[in-house]
Amino acid sequence: MLDLNIITEADIALPTQPVELRHFINGTWVDSADGAVSERVSPSHGVVVSRAAKGGAAEAEAAILAARTAFDDGRWSRISGKDRAAVLLKVADLIEHHTERLAILETLESGKPISQSRGEVGGAADLWRYAASLARSIHGDSHNTLGPDMVAMVLKEPIGVVSIITPWNFPFWILSQKLPFALAAGCTCVVKPSEMTPATTALLADLLVEAGLPAGVCNIVLGYGLPVGSLMTSHKAVDMISFTGSTAVGKKISEIAAGTLKKVALELGGKNAQVIFPDADLEDAADAVAFGVHFNVGQCCNSSSRIIVHEDIAEAFTARVVDLSRKVAYGNPLNPKTQVGAIVTAEHQAKIDGYVQGAVAEGADIRLGGAALTVAGVGAQFYQPTIVTGLRPDMAIVQEEVFGPVLSVLTFRTLEEAIALANDSVYGLSAGVWSNDIHTCLAFAREVQAGTIWTNTWMDGFPEVAFGGMKQSGQGREIGRYGFEEFLEVKSVVMRVGGGSRGKWVSEG
Ligand code: NAD
Repeated sequence: MLDLNIITEADIALPTQPVELRHFINGTWVDSADGAVSERVSPSHGVVVSRAAKGGAAEAEAAILAARTAFDDGRWSRISGKDRAAVLLKVADLIEHHTERLAILETLESGKPISQSRGEVGGAADLWRYAASLARSIHGDSHNTLGPDMVAMVLKEPIGVVSIITPWNFPFWILSQKLPFALAAGCTCVVKPSEMTPATTALLADLLVEAGLPAGVCNIVLGYGLPVGSLMTSHKAVDMISFTGSTAVGKKISEIAAGTLKKVALELGGKNAQVIFPDADLEDAADAVAFGVHFNVGQCCNSSSRIIVHEDIAEAFTARVVDLSRKVAYGNPLNPKTQVGAIVTAEHQAKIDGYVQGAVAEGADIRLGGAALTVAGVGAQFYQPTIVTGLRPDMAIVQEEVFGPVLSVLTFRTLEEAIALANDSVYGLSAGVWSNDIHTCLAFAREVQAGTIWTNTWMDGFPEVAFGGMKQSGQGREIGRYGFEEFLEVKSVVMRVGGGSRGKWVSEG
């Protein structure tokens, strides 16, 4: 008997009609030249929640041109950091003011619970505030030890026009990990949200205008990877691409960008392990494992889709995680008590199930769940919390990004074995270790190939702390000072001073 905590009721009424969304190019809201639109059906409720202009090459071209012109004439790139910061701070206030409306749309398009959307949209204001502080602190170096007639400066300049391409799993949060930082640096931008979750990105345009961002500095084109994203990647007027999405598309972007040698920053997939030692606070660890795998229905680059548990405690620990997973509130995303909502598309739901059934066919044991879930009165695009044991490290469910609420359990005997298993992945986004021994934690942190290591915690992040991946999880960093620096170019100015001659190179006899 599958005994789960399912929430069916909603606290918030469904909107009576879809929100209409248009592109925002050179300070103006426009439809597509050919009138094309695309509709987003809510994964949780099956109703159309947004109708968006569907961009083509014409809109992508116009947006890139607007961003190029705005960058080159200096309307944003050459104003003071103080003035840029003032605009970003206003945007932060406006985000907080409009959080509820944005959060409801985020929930309806993505299927994530409303409490989580409120946290992500409202919390994004802090990313804008932090970026504003960076706008005022850009500085380079000076060299005063090059000899009496030489002095040099290393200047930091905005890199130019940045294409920002985002995924559907954290639409507003990931946008806010990129856009305010690029703007703080003085860049101009073309933004394309996922075709599945355009609403909050499109509506941000209203807030940018109200905050006083000059026309052309941020342009938003709604549409698909082809042709919009692809053109944003290949166009010679673009200087940098900041992309978050799948590793497969990230590789394509890298290849295309090589044609014009653009800078590319990539935030891609992950297969993140939490390793649990017997001396850890096991109650805390079990709760963090439940959080790590079920949060955002596992549709999270940081999902801890693998745990590696010491064999002495593996059975009891797994049983505790099963017990906690039954208590996680799955169900109607429009109820504030719900912790886990719907799967983004029916195709993705089938893909998740394919990994689970594939593992079963190879002899794995399902300890909980293992099938799609219908939430009474809401819909059938949900997946049961699922825990799988009896796995070999080479199975697809252990190696690949399942992107669902599916936990793979492996075991280990020694620290070395745990590190080797954690590193046995093409990905290197994040990893965690649970132990009360500082030496164990530090050895793990030093040896594991991942952009973020959590010790005795999971998925804490701060605007100040860089985030990004090693190996096939990406390149470059996002947020923090390192993330900000990605949007800056370095220029060295070498000056001869004092009026003396530099000494002749050509001898005239
Ligand atoms: P995706 O790669 O399918 O799409 C991401 C974006 O790229 C969308 O806007 C899409 O329209 C666009 N796109 C698609 N094809 C393109 C092309 N040829 N050229 C340019 N743009 C193109 O990813 P998704 O399914 O939206 O998101 C899920 C993936 O994102 C997962 O793999 C997840 O791990 C990853 N992700 C990574 C992070 C991170 O910070 N590392 C964060 C969130 C999500």
